[in-house]
Amino acid sequence: MKIHNFNAGPSILPREAIENAAKAILNLEGTGGLSLLEISHRTKDYEAINDEANALMRELLGVPDNYKIIFVGGGASTQFFHIPYNLLEKKAGYVNTGVWAKKAIKDAKLFGNVEVVASSEDKNFSYIPKGFNIPTDLDYLHITTNNTIYGTEYHADIDSPVNLVADMSSDILSRPMDVSKYALIYGGAQKNMGPAGVTFVIVREDILGKVSRPLPAMVDYRNAIECDSMYNTPPVFAVFVVRETLRWLKSIGGLQEMYRRNKEKAGILYDEIDRNKLFVGPAVKEDRSLMNICFVMAPGYENLSDEFLAFAKSRGMIGLKGHRLVGGFRASTYNALPKESVEYLVACMQEFEKMHV
Ligand code: PMP
Repeated sequence: MKIHNFNAGPSILPREAIENAAKAILNLEGTGGLSLLEISHRTKDYEAINDEANALMRELLGVPDNYKIIFVGGGASTQFFHIPYNLLEKKAGYVNTGVWAKKAIKDAKLFGNVEVVASSEDKNFSYIPKGFNIPTDLDYLHITTNNTIYGTEYHADIDSPVNLVADMSSDILSRPMDVSKYALIYGGAQKNMGPAGVTFVIVREDILGKVSRPLPAMVDYRNAIECDSMYNTPPVFAVFVVRETLRWLKSIGGLQEMYRRNKEKAGILYDEIDRNKLFVGPAVKEDRSLMNICFVMAPGYENLSDEFLAFAKSRGMIGLKGHRLVGGFRASTYNALPKESVEYLVACMQEFEKMHV
């Protein structure tokens, strides 16, 4: 039976990236038989992998020259404190759109004043706050562009009068974007970009070196920039898989084509959620995520939740259980998920409806 992988992260990757990684584990091309897992990062072989991953990221996202891209360890959660450590002198603004934003806020408070300039907590984070005032005395404003747990997403790059910092862990590379509207973009790779173990940071260089506190070497972005992401031992394997994933993304036509596919996949599933009598989507329509599609049983059918999960699982669909804070179901439709998997899920929802309505 074919498995359809709706995991929220780590999650589905392009098959060819996985196959190339498997080959490179046995014999990294050009090394005469060494495994990717046993090469030194201080070699031409690794430099070429790191450089290409970096260049592809720059090309695909259209990253301007005055920005640097680094690959580091620690996950997006480490960036929750690296960002205020490097950037927060007096006051930062945060938009609270859910659990990940809250964690970022909690860490930032260790470094200075934090003003939550907008929040969607009043409605269990089912929408993206809009039209709020952004004070101009902030060192930066932090947003989470896709809220993995609640299935809400900013669909456009917002204008900010202060340096804009964005956690794009779960929607990076899902659509064309204007990097120049941001001062810093970061995220864990383990959704659209590659496997767990590597974190990307895209930063406009002029914002660095402005805080008065001393920075530990591993926290100071300037060290990673200066050493081409090799200040310490980088996550070699993860960066290799990032390169393969970016090669795939380029080969299918880049972000324009990716965006078209992502809109198409999400559209198919949201249409079914809206049509099917058994299901409803809690996120407000205009803010619905293209990456994490959340739905719950409709009123009156709540008792069917476990049965639907078991039914979907019996048909090879995994990773559909919603986060415990939202309940219900979450289909993560990241870049590498094929349209067929979404169509398969829709067919399953229709069959389940016939059984119960
Ligand atoms: N931000 C968002 C939006 C996420 O979805 C996640 C992980 N699911 C994180 C941050 C935390 O990432 P990591 O596990 O890499 O620390």
